[in-house]
Amino acid sequence: MAVEQKTVTAMEAVESNPLNLIWTDLDIELKTYAKEHHVPIIVDEGLALLEQIIRISKPKHILEIGTAIGYSATRMARICGSQITTIERNQEMIQIAKKTFQKSGYESQIRLIECDALEAFEFVKDASFDLIFIDAAKAQYTKFFEIYTPLLTSHGIVVSDNMSFHGLVNKDDYEAQSRSVRGLIRKLAGYQEYLLKNPNYDTSIFELGDGVAISVKKD
Ligand code: SAH
Ligand code: MG
Repeated sequence: MAVEQKTVTAMEAVESNPLNLIWTDLDIELKTYAKEHHVPIIVDEGLALLEQIIRISKPKHILEIGTAIGYSATRMARICGSQITTIERNQEMIQIAKKTFQKSGYESQIRLIECDALEAFEFVKDASFDLIFIDAAKAQYTKFFEIYTPLLTSHGIVVSDNMSFHGLVNKDDYEAQSRSVRGLIRKLAGYQEYLLKNPNYDTSIFELGDGVAISVKKD
């Protein structure tokens, strides 16, 4: 009976948090803010995958495109001491992200570039990155990839978030979407094709979280 009870408790624990993510007070504050203000921070499942990739590959320097409130940047900084360079163009987000980094205790590891990522190459061109996390305007993913992957180290990794665009890509009800959403779906589908056919990368696209593409540079 005691053994049975213990097993049930263990199973419940696994079922309630199989991703095994641990939240700090700051994480919870940011998640709450994001929910209330509709800031599209990375969902738990995608985050868990991203964090495991970082644990496995131990990137020295990570480039993030799309900082928002600094949630994913601080999570990434926490794992194994990686340097994070993160780019954000929205002033409101920039102000919140700055406060996040101060509060996080990882400020010295994180460099925030306040600029449109389509125009920020000159600020990072002397650096190299072991991992690039693309998580900004969905219509521009192919451009971000082309601008920044020349700075990727050998066997470097590109993680692209929101490949399902909140479940909209490849959906049957494509015709029912607004014109602008249809345009975005087409662009994201085009990016996925671009990744899968890119001869210099091995890419797999996972339907977890909001859809995550992992591309590994072949040499
Ligand atoms: N990575 C964050 C979420 C980013 S949300 C997290 O998971 O915690 C996407 C962000 O990208 C938004 O804040 C938006 O302002 C920013 N963004 C979109 N297009 C951009 C661009 N071209 N240059 C810089 N930032 C951009
Ligand atoms: Mg995202």
